[in-house]
Amino acid sequence: MIDYKLHIPGPVNVSSGAYQALKTPVMGHRSPDFVDLYNKCQPLLQKLFQTEDPVFLCTSSAWGAMEGAVRNLTKKKTLCCTCGAFSDKWIDVVQRCDKEVDALSVEWGKHIDPNALDEKLSSGEYDLVTLVHNETSCGMMNPLEDIMKVLAKYPDVLSVVDTVSSFSVVPIQKDLLGIDVLLTGSQKALALPPGLALLSVSERAFERAKTIKGRGYYFDFLEFLKNHEKGMTPSTPVIPLIHGLLYTLESIFEEGVENRFQRHEQLNNQVHQWIDSKGFELLPEKKFASKSLSCVKNNLEMDVAGFVKALREEKKLAIDGGYGKIKGKTFRISNMGNEDNQSIEFLLNQMDDIIHRFLPS
Ligand SMILES: *Cc1c(COP(=O)(O)O)cnc(C)c1O
Repeated sequence: MIDYKLHIPGPVNVSSGAYQALKTPVMGHRSPDFVDLYNKCQPLLQKLFQTEDPVFLCTSSAWGAMEGAVRNLTKKKTLCCTCGAFSDKWIDVVQRCDKEVDALSVEWGKHIDPNALDEKLSSGEYDLVTLVHNETSCGMMNPLEDIMKVLAKYPDVLSVVDTVSSFSVVPIQKDLLGIDVLLTGSQKALALPPGLALLSVSERAFERAKTIKGRGYYFDFLEFLKNHEKGMTPSTPVIPLIHGLLYTLESIFEEGVENRFQRHEQLNNQVHQWIDSKGFELLPEKKFASKSLSCVKNNLEMDVAGFVKALREEKKLAIDGGYGKIKGKTFRISNMGNEDNQSIEFLLNQMDDIIHRFLPS
């Protein structure tokens, strides 16, 4: 039994309203009721994605859509911008699709330098770039606008941008920035249970897909488009999560998108103040710090594992003790989803209560 609240950077805490929506009785996925549900979600999704392109609902975690983008869009060579665990993994995914790949790599926690990207792309070797907007493993948010300005110089190079932990946290203007595939998942910034990926695909990406062999079936963008035109998905989707999605979208617009952005910024600052007050530092440069989570450098040599365990067992709150190779050297606190001033203040107070036991005396 889960008796603690999630403040890890995904999956995050699901609201009772969203859980309630998940209980809506299942209907046939070729029925008018489903088409109605799909068509209700679509304009809200397009507004949130800031796009006129379709937004597809894909029953998989985000990696399904990420792998799908690779299978649909690259013929020559992919350039993966890597700056942490999720962006690193994309190299492996491209290789496993039997496609050619290079990396533009920076140290974990550092951002992708638009000039370095420009230099790489000027070789003319690449037809696809992958970018993780908000590198969740390091709490680092890439300078998306500047990166997209570079991509605009290379019309033959398509872009796939992963916004799994930043979507609906900060404004991301898909069409204006010229992003070809913008994708996210249900269980992080959208605060739904896992199992649904959302992706919006540009016209030129569809044109490219038409020329690519071996797109497979499950993630074929053209198959998605064909079904989308009927208000449907290619195969039976995770219908309860789509009910949850509609509920979440309506809540987002009820709060107001700008208010939601501001709330996240404010909560993120609240956590940063706590970090400063303890004498901790952020892993990334402050300018590139994520707005949806904080990745804290363990510069005080705290017993991170002990702290995380005590917080969960005694205070019933789960934070994360660091990802992959920076486990223990960092810890992460999420402010994604439905958190508010009170819930973040409560978390910070509870951490204050016990932290002294895990700091060197
Ligand atoms: C969590 C995460 C993923 C992976 O998502 P899955 O839903 O596990 O496939 C990919 N990218 C980023 C930035 C993430 O935070």
